[in-house]
Amino acid sequence: MRTGKDITTIFIHCTAGYGDVASMKRFWKSLGWNSPGYHLVVKVCGDIEIVQPFSLCSNGVKGFNTNSINISYIGGVDKNNVNKAVDTRTPEQKEGLIKAIKLATDWIVSTGGTKSKLIIKGHRDASPDQNGDGVISTWERIKECPSFDAIPEYKHLTK
Ligand SMILES: [Zn+2]
Repeated sequence: MRTGKDITTIFIHCTAGYGDVASMKRFWKSLGWNSPGYHLVVKVCGDIEIVQPFSLCSNGVKGFNTNSINISYIGGVDKNNVNKAVDTRTPEQKEGLIKAIKLATDWIVSTGGTKSKLIIKGHRDASPDQNGDGVISTWERIKECPSFDAIPEYKHLTK
């Protein structure tokens, strides 16, 4: 089981579609994944759905899953063209994402980790060099995930 000491990165994602968590779970299962793609999913209404406990890995960014927490919002693409990246976050989702990040950082600190070395970034900010192939998971049709610049937006949350 992981603790906060294991976590170096919180990755922010978009689901690149509008399906609910149940449909995502079916999709992950169809890929043969043992773990879901995210720990938390923030719905359009801002509600947070817990998909996986932080103490377990989720399948968010290949090569980084052991040391990361993955948080996703539903959307991130044009409703009429899922191949077109758009920041579709509602005001409620923006608040929900911050709450979700705080849930993660609270867990990290309460299990012995620290926020000071933690990096919050978007999936697209994962270095392709470290990642090996830089390939985005099949679930995500776009390379722009999460369709906005997460690093400057959430930098203050690690202070
Ligand atoms: Zn992603």
